[in-house]
Amino acid sequence: MAKTKNTYTVTTRSESCKGCGLCIEYCKSGKLAFSKKLNKMGYFYAEPVQDKECTGCMSCTLVCPDLVIEVYDG
Ligand code: SF4
Ligand code: SF4
Repeated sequence: MAKTKNTYTVTTRSESCKGCGLCIEYCKSGKLAFSKKLNKMGYFYAEPVQDKECTGCMSCTLVCPDLVIEVYDG
C-alpha cells in the first residue's frame, strides 16, 4: 500500500549541544524542547518532544551552529 504521509524522526546529540535554544525557537511544530537534565558540559540540551510531530522542514538543522541535529525520513 502506498505511503499516505511522510513521517520524520529527529535526533540531537545531547552531549554536543550547548543549549543555545535556536532550534527550539525556529521549530514551528514544538517538536524540540530543553531537557530537564544537564549534559556533561553543563547545558540543558535540546531534545525531541514525544507527542509532537516533525514536519521535516529542516529549519532546526539549518540554524544549529554545532550541527548536532539530524532529521530523517521514517
Ligand atoms: S525539521 Fe522542522 S518540524 Fe522537525 S524538529 Fe526540525 S524545525 Fe521542527
Ligand atoms: S541549535 Fe543546536 S546547539 Fe543550539 S540548542 Fe539546538 S541542538 Fe543545541
